[in-house]
Amino acid sequence: MLTNVVDFFRNLPKKQCVQCGEHIDEQHECYGNHCDNCLSDHDL
Ligand SMILES: [Zn+2]
Repeated sequence: MLTNVVDFFRNLPKKQCVQCGEHIDEQHECYGNHCDNCLSDHDL
């Protein structure tokens, strides 16, 4: 049943930047819903 866990993560929708629609690297989820480019604009 381990394959079910793999499928679960594969089926997770990719995050998209709310500003430009770029896909967001999951490692950056702590940054919210903006990609690197837009993060620099917002100066968080
Ligand atoms: Zn963006």
